[in-house]
Formats: sequence, structure tokens, C-alpha cells
Amino acid sequence: MRSANAYDVVVVGARCAGAATAMLLARRGLRVLVVDRGQYGTDTLSTHALMRGGVLQLHRWGVLPAVVARGTPPVRTTTFHYGAEAIEVAIKPGKGIEALYAPRRTVLDAALVDAARAAGAELRYGQTLADLRYDGEGRVVGAVTLDAAGRLHEIAADLVIGADGIGSAVARLVRAEVTHQARHATATVFGYFADIPDTGYHWHYVERASVGRIPTNDGRTCVFVSVPPSRYRTDILKDRTAGFHAVLREVSPALAGQVAGSVTEGGLLAFAGRRSYLRQAHGPGWALVGDAGYFKDPITAHGITDALRDAELLAEAAVRGSAAAFAEYQATRDALSRPLLDVTDAIAAYDWDLEQAKTLHKALNQAMKREVEHILALDADATREAA
Ligand SMILES: Cc1cc2nc3c(=O)[nH]c(=O)nc-3n(C[C@H](O)[C@H](O)[C@H](O)COP(=O)(O)OP(=O)(O)OC[C@H]3O[C@@H](n4cnc5c(N)ncnc54)[C@H](O)[C@@H]3O)c2cc1C
Repeated sequence: MRSANAYDVVVVGARCAGAATAMLLARRGLRVLVVDRGQYGTDTLSTHALMRGGVLQLHRWGVLPAVVARGTPPVRTTTFHYGAEAIEVAIKPGKGIEALYAPRRTVLDAALVDAARAAGAELRYGQTLADLRYDGEGRVVGAVTLDAAGRLHEIAADLVIGADGIGSAVARLVRAEVTHQARHATATVFGYFADIPDTGYHWHYVERASVGRIPTNDGRTCVFVSVPPSRYRTDILKDRTAGFHAVLREVSPALAGQVAGSVTEGGLLAFAGRRSYLRQAHGPGWALVGDAGYFKDPITAHGITDALRDAELLAEAAVRGSAAAFAEYQATRDALSRPLLDVTDAIAAYDWDLEQAKTLHKALNQAMKREVEHILALDADATREAA
């Protein structure tokens, strides 16, 4: 792919999906511009537990050391609590992965942006995608952005990538079709707490509620509660703090006790829920990556991991540049994603008993293993930094 345009690719969105895709494309020699309406190093509404596939990508790309250097604590065990029963699983070291990590998005997204810049990608913040440009045959040939001063900027490019999240403007402008819509959604409330002992990831389940704890940067632990949307409306919406602590007490009295005396930095944050979906991933002159094209309910904490997986699949397709390559991107994304999405939807239904929850988690684990095997089979040389 190389035309007379100043850029081969414009990526809209500079977080995990967009920055990773831009980094990989720039490493392959493409001229890449990334625009984002936000600012570098800022947070976003998301907890941030990475699964093995996500950490593996950061390791393969050489970005993991920057994340670790920011003091992101290693996670060496995951404990599943089904009522009073606890099942601790050690994170098996291997293939360069010594532990899992849950970097704050201020750390992870910035590390990926730094790597994209180092590879030669250009970043412009404070730029909102306003429109797309098309040629006479309906092919996307560029983007129009709006800056904070109200000025419009035309950017010609061979490919526009929408990495602009759940409310993707690119998906809306190209009318990307929703190819699969899940049935269930969960609501999440979370915050950051000090002085909670770091004993790895913990996921606690009772019928119709779950909570989790995720050790992260600056000695903080991210604690979340998750409930069906109906319960969110009746028990949490009116008084977020009281509702959060009530669910915590119900699901894990021990964690509730630890959290009770700790003040949250930045208050409690809430996500009311959205059903998972897959969208058409590409069309003439455009492609989608990350939540823009594939969103999964947060109950399985896997969106970032999948965004990092798909960044590499899309970068490979864009380098090849053919219609067949983009079709392969979508087919592979969907084949790897559907098992994850379907089991996530079954967990999000909150209609299981604790034995059924265990079975669903085993199915999730199988889907995650397939994803890791797929990543391990990708061409590592195509993603490395230049020597
Ligand atoms: C409550 C909650 C908890 C979660 N917990 C986890 C978890 O523990 N682990 C996990 O792996 N995943 C989790 N996820 C999922 C994860 O947050 C997403 O999968 C991930 O953020 C997707 O990244 P992205 O880069 O595709 O999009 P985003 O992170 O949404 O980034 C999109 C970027 O595009 C920019 N943008 C948007 N529109 C425009 C525009 N018009 N013009 C210019 N820029 C634009 C935005 O400013 C933003 O920077 C959670 C999600 C939620 C909601």
C-alpha cells in the first residue's frame, strides 16, 4: 500500500486498539497518522485486567518492559470464589510470560502510544473525527477532523481505521452492519482502594452478582461489583456508594471489610451496561478494530486482550492490502471471538447456579487457550521494533 497521499493509514482513536495497530503498521514502514479527540496519558471508563493473550502481545511487541517499569505489579495467581469455595490457579510461566498484569489505562495506552511514536507514527490529540471523504465509487479516501479551535482538517489516506471505541463514529459513518448481537448485559461499578493486600486477581461469584479485585499501579487495587442491569437500576442507581458496598458485603464480606475503611481516589465509576456485538470489520477504504468493531461485556475482562490480538490481525491485513486479506481479518477475528463472546453472554445472563458458573469458566478458559495458541502461531518478526 503506497499512494501519493501523505499517509497510508489514518487511525481514529489512540488507546489500546488504535495505538497498537498504528505501532505495528509504522513498524512495517507505513506512514501512519493517529488522531484522538482526547489527550495523551488520560484514563477511560474501564477496569483493566489483562489475560494471558494480552500480556503475550505486549511481550511479543517489546512493550511489556515499559508497562512493568511504571510499577505495574505482577499477578501470579487468579482465585475464583464460588460462594464460600475458593479455587486458586497459579499463572503458569512460559513463552516469555512470567505473570499477568493489570496496568491502569493511563499507563497501558501511553506505553502503546509511545511505542507507536517511536516506530514513526504521528499522533494528533484534540482532533475529533467529523466526517469521512469518499471517491466517486464510494471508497473511503480520507478523514475530516475538527480541532478544539473549531478548525476542520482534511486528511487523505488509503485506509481509515476506526479504533474509536464503543460509540465509533467511523462505524456510524460507514454504516458498518452489526453482524451479531448478544442478549445480555451487566452493569459495573468500580473504584480504586489503598492498603488492600495484593494476592493476585480475585473473582467472586454468587447468584445474580459478582465482584472482583485487580491489583494495579501506585499500590491501588481496583475493586468492582457487577450486577444485572435491573438490579443496578433498583439497588445502585439512586445511591452508587451505598449500592456498591451492599453488593460487596453480600458477595464477599471479607473484601467488603477491607474496602470499608479505604477512601477511593476519584470516586466510584459506573458503566450501566451494553450488549456485546460484532460489527462488519472492513469495507472499501475502511476497517474497524477494538470496541469499534467488537465489544464484549466486561464481566469476562477480556476487551483489551482481544483489542491487542485484533490490532495485529488488522495490521497484517492492511500491509497486504488486498480484499482477501481484509476478509481474512474479519473471518479470523470472528472465529476467535464468537466462543469468547458466547460464553461471556452466558455468564452475563446471571441465570446460572454456582456449579454452572464453574462450567462456563472452564469453557471461557478453553476459548482463551485457543486465542493464545493463535497468537503464538503469528509471525513474530513482523511485529518487532527495528533493531
Ligand atoms: C466497565 C468496564 C470494565 C472493563 N474491564 C475490562 C477489563 O478488566 N479487562 C479488559 O481487557 N477489558 C475491559 N473492558 C473493555 C475495555 O475497556 C475495552 O475493550 C477497550 O477499552 C477497547 O479499547 P479501544 O482502544 O477499542 O477503545 P477505547 O478504549 O474506547 O478508545 C477509543 C478512543 O477513541 C477516541 N475517539 C472516540 N471517538 C472519537 C472521534 N469521533 N474522534 C476522535 N477520537 C475519538 C476516544 O477519545 C478514545 O481515546 C472494560 C470495559 C468497561 C466498560
